Amino acid sequence: MIEGLVVKSYGKLCNVKVNNFIYKCEVRGKYKLSNKFSNPVVSGDKVEISITDKNNGVVENILERKNYFAKESIRDKKGHLIGSNIDQTLIIFSIKNPYTKLIFLDKCLLSSIFFDIKPIIVFNKVDLLNDDEIIKLDKISFEYKKAGFDVISISAKYQIRLDDIKSKLIDKRTLILGNSGVGKSTLINQLSPYSKQRISDISQKTGKGKQTTTFSEIIKINKNSLIIDTPGFKDFNLYLIDKSDVKYQYPEFNKFFDRCKFSNCSHINEPGCAVKKQIGDNIWEKRYNNYLGIIEGYS
Ligand code: GDP
Ligand code: ZN
Repeated sequence: MIEGLVVKSYGKLCNVKVNNFIYKCEVRGKYKLSNKFSNPVVSGDKVEISITDKNNGVVENILERKNYFAKESIRDKKGHLIGSNIDQTLIIFSIKNPYTKLIFLDKCLLSSIFFDIKPIIVFNKVDLLNDDEIIKLDKISFEYKKAGFDVISISAKYQIRLDDIKSKLIDKRTLILGNSGVGKSTLINQLSPYSKQRISDISQKTGKGKQTTTFSEIIKINKNSLIIDTPGFKDFNLYLIDKSDVKYQYPEFNKFFDRCKFSNCSHINEPGCAVKKQIGDNIWEKRYNNYLGIIEGYS
């Protein structure tokens, strides 16, 4: 058996890179019917494969993951893996063309924190904004920075502030998130000289390989920086995060919750809630309202 890196995953099929060669592999045996995940293997996984012929192999072992990002599978309540062994998420967002609700950003942020991954917020398409919209975006950026997040506003198309992004990617494996149309591909093409050489057609066997948007894929930025490109999605159900865990994934709540009267305060209706007192001050009302929305989504 030899060790390799999953650079593209599609259901039970994946491309595994060993040195500079790509083997098309199938997952068999014990991993095929995971009761935790709907997809057994994902880009970023370290695996051991046995080679069956010149271009093909079988995944025998998935090595322990440092971490992963997952959402709830649409088909069942299992997790759907988006990527693994990640240092940070780059959440690409636009407030215009397409307009995306901030609650989606909040879900990406709290999932990243829950899965032990540092999130970075990227507002793309700043070139499209008029004066009022620039003021609106400045306010949003200000609030997220105040909450403790890294925020970068860019134009992928017109290459505005891409150096800020490049510097964040150095020596990191970065998972790209965002709904479709926000400019993920445009950004990746700007960042990576390798992006045009993506390995397509994962499986001639099944003929499914042409659905290029349905799997995640590793793209090299340079020797030490890899990004995992993922299919766009604009809403998702949280995976593994209990309703009572959501409140802990807000850095700006965490600063105050030990001052709440009740130690298990959910910051909703309890008397003596120190978090609620901070709304309009250290906590942005919009984020708090979206927190309530996320909690309501559980029942
Ligand atoms: P993806 O679905 O997230 O991969 O988005 P694409 O990269 O395919 O971009 C969707 C559309 O937005 C394309 O027409 C791009 O040219 C456009 N686009 C991407 N980035 C920018 C930007 O910074 N400014 C403007 N004005 N358009 C952009
Ligand atoms: Zn409270």
